[in-house]
Formats: sequence, structure tokens, C-alpha cells
Amino acid sequence: MEEIVGLCKRRGFIFPSSEIYGGYNGFYDYGPLGVELRNNIKQAWWRDMVLRRDDIEGLDSTIIMHPDIWKASGHVDGFSDPMVDCRESKLRYRADQLFFAPVIVAGETIGYVSVVECPEQQEIAEKAAADIKRKAAKQGTLEPIVLKDYTESKPEEYDLVPSPATGKPGSLTAPREFKLMFETKVGPLADESAVAYLRPETAQGIFANYKNIVDTGRVKIPFGIAQIGKAFRNEITPRNFIFRSREFEQMEIEYFISPSADWKTLHREWIDTCIDWLVSIGLPREDISEDIHPEDKLAFYSRATTDLMFQFPHGEQELWGVACRGDYDLMQHQKHSGKSMTIFDEASKEKFVPHVIEPSLGVDRTLLAVLTAAYTQDEVPNDKGVAEKRLVLKFSPKIAPVKAAIFPLLKNKPELVERAQALYKKLQRRWNVFYDASGAIGRRYRRQDEIGTPFGITIDFDTIEKDGTVTLRDRDTCEQRRVTEDELIQFLEEQIDG
Ligand code: ATP
Repeated sequence: MEEIVGLCKRRGFIFPSSEIYGGYNGFYDYGPLGVELRNNIKQAWWRDMVLRRDDIEGLDSTIIMHPDIWKASGHVDGFSDPMVDCRESKLRYRADQLFFAPVIVAGETIGYVSVVECPEQQEIAEKAAADIKRKAAKQGTLEPIVLKDYTESKPEEYDLVPSPATGKPGSLTAPREFKLMFETKVGPLADESAVAYLRPETAQGIFANYKNIVDTGRVKIPFGIAQIGKAFRNEITPRNFIFRSREFEQMEIEYFISPSADWKTLHREWIDTCIDWLVSIGLPREDISEDIHPEDKLAFYSRATTDLMFQFPHGEQELWGVACRGDYDLMQHQKHSGKSMTIFDEASKEKFVPHVIEPSLGVDRTLLAVLTAAYTQDEVPNDKGVAEKRLVLKFSPKIAPVKAAIFPLLKNKPELVERAQALYKKLQRRWNVFYDASGAIGRRYRRQDEIGTPFGITIDFDTIEKDGTVTLRDRDTCEQRRVTEDELIQFLEEQIDG
């Protein structure tokens, strides 16, 4: 992760927000390359989920909506995470991410260990337990360390579990519910009636507009509404770079189906569609797995939820949630707004409030997954044929921030420069391309490899003196071949727009 964060800063993908003021925890800015990558991910999603499907319509709703929407959805009362404070260090933890265990030697509890959730948590806890046993000079067998999360702690344990910040017990509070929605005030009144919220998800904007879209008359069951937009959550512990931040972006679909539809099959189809899409933007299939939520852990309105998990640098974590939410949300809005949410289904001649399948994906998490998958260190021959280490981002051409770099072989030959500039201007009308004339050609390739530009195009003397062909270099194999301009454009079209 550190290497990815370093590269993102150095090459202008992602910066900590407000960096000149020391940064601001949980907020990130996207630099010149980051914004391109981000836009390409969003465009690829929109193209595949909305434009290339007949059954999905797009939407762009406001970030601040009528506060009653958040009452109806259950967010005002229920959208919170359990937190625990360390009174001494003033640090705050999510209780379900703080793990602890008693240290039991020969049947006697001689202390507690605690650890913040991480892939190595078991080893860390076992090592800490062995230390406690040694310091206590306690003879006997150390019983296996069984970690539980802090939401399962008992009141008599609060004072015994050490704070991960200080390593000492006595400073942790009981778990308490912490509201995740950011509040603001709308209008000139300063009282409670002015309280509004920054949306913590884009989904409710879809439910709130469902009736408008149905009444516009373009849709028939089953159909979906898709939205891409910012969401805000006052996360207790934003961490792991852009994986969990306080301002992020979501790409969500509500897919409305008949209550009598075979929802299990449709759910499965959506899971497969989502996996295929992730693979299409360059994530390795073997790094994606399914986490099926057990029935007894589902929210009361949910029929099934499967999270698509990805191998992030900090472990296997949720990337995309695909939930079957029944008719809960529309029913809630029908009740709170007093407006009917029924639809007339021409096919069955029935009237009903549809059920919904909700694939919900974060733009920033997708971007981190894409960076993780693309980040590669390998060895390639340099100008003199000697093997040299290189850092390369193997982005799919579909989402790469820069699609191709155009190089005149030599910068002091006007005829080469002119020809390269002309090709550059031509390609620039369609794609984000880069022109670079400075330095040895090998160095120029390497600079592009590091930002993941899939194709290098070199204009040399053969181009101007012979047949007009250019050299096309492939980033991953470093193979070069000569192509005509027409062949080049057709190739780029297939690879980028494909
Ligand atoms: P988590 O359990 O990781 O907090 P969640 O289950 O609360 O996530 P959802 O409410 O299902 O997440 O949100 C849908 C998607 O939005 C997630 O799969 C993720 O891609 C993205 N997402 C949610 N919270 C954040 C965040 N704080 N930062 C970045 N992306 C997020």
C-alpha cells in the first residue's frame, strides 16, 4: 500500500486533501492523472450499465435532499457504527474493528490483549499474550487466543482490555453508537427544522425519483435506475488510503422487479454481471471472491446480500455489495410521503410495489482495486539490451488515464517533430494522449510505463522518408511493430473503445 500511495503522490494521481495545511483525515484529492482514471472508470460503468442496456435509465439527484427521506429510509435513527473511545489518547475505534481476548494461563485469566483489525491480527495478539505471560512469570500452558470484536465485550471487561494506543487497560469506554451522517443547516432559520444531511448513499435519490421515472413512461418491469455521485459518511476510522474515506463516490443501481419474479436467479445474474464488469476493466478474476451474508446476519428487510470481495493490499475486503432489499425502501417512502409507489405491469396486468436488487459500488474503491491490480515491477531490456528493473502500471486501455504517447525519435529534426505533432493533434481530438520529445526514447517509454500508458507511438525517418508507418510499442510486452496510420487508429479504437 505504501508504494501505491507514494506512486500516486509522485506522479499526480492522488494527493491528501488540504495538504498544505497538514492534510485532513479521510479526504483525498485527485490530481491530473487521478481525475482521468476516475472519469474513465465512471464512463466505462455508465456505458456498460446504462447506455448499452435497454432496461436501465440514468439519474442525477441532489446531494442534499428533504430530511424526511432519511427518516423514511431509516438512516436518521439507524445509520450508525459502534465506536469506542480511548480516554487517554483521545483516539477513537470502530468497535467491530477492535479485537480483544483474555490471556488465560493454566485456567487463570492473567490479562487481556487487544488489536485493531488487520490480516495479521491473530499473530500480533498471540505475540502480545506470550509477552504478558512472560512478564507475569506465570508457569503453565497458555490457552489458545480467541479474538472477539469489542461489540461482544461485557461491561466488566471494559476496564480490563488494553487500549491499542497506549497498551494499557483502563482507558477504553463502552461501545456507543456513532451517527455517520454529516449534518448541515439549510435556509435562514438556525433551529432544528433547518437540519439537513449530506447523503450517505446515492440510492435514496433513486427511490425518491422512482415515481417520476415510472410516470415519464419509458420503463417496464424489470428495469433499473442508475446513478453516479458523491456520498459522505463521517467514518469513525477512515483508513487504508482511499478505501474508506469520508467523502467518496458511488455508482449504484436499483433494479426493480416483480414481487413474484425469481429473485434468486436475478440476483445471481447481477452478481455475474458485476464480476464480468470488474474483469472487463482489468481486475484479475482470481482476486475477486463472493462473501455471502449468512441469513441470520441479514437486516430484517433483506432477502440476500453477496459482497464481491477483492484482494486489496490490506487484505480481502468488500468492493461491491449486491443486495436483494425486497420492497422495504419503496414501502417506507410510500408510507412517509403518502404517494403511491405501485406500478402497473403490462405483461402480467398486475399492480404492485416492485422489489429491488441493489448493486452498489464505490468509485474510489474501484480505483484502488484497479491500481492494486495494475501495479507491477518487472525487468525489461534497456536501449543497450541490458535487463533493467521497471515499475509499470498495467491498466486496461479502456480506463488508462493516458491512452497513448507520441514521440518524435529526435527533437531537433523539424520534419519528425512536425509529423509527430500532427499525429498528436489528430489523436487528441478523440483520446487523452501525450506528446513527449525530451530525452532518450527508452527513458520516455519508462516514464509512460510508470503512469500506465498502454501504447507508445514513435515517428522516425522511415515514417517520413519511406512508407508513412509508425512504430507502435506495447507497454506490457515491450514489443514493437510498424503500422500505417489507418491501422493505428483502428487498433486504438478496438483497444480503447472496444
Ligand atoms: P463497509 O462495511 O466497508 O463500511 P458498507 O457495507 O457500509 O461498507 P455500503 O453501504 O454497502 O458499504 O456501500 C456500498 C459501496 O460503497 C461499498 O461496497 C463501497 O464500495 C463503497 N463505500 C462505502 N463506504 C465507503 C467509504 N467510507 N469510502 C469509500 N467507499 C465506500
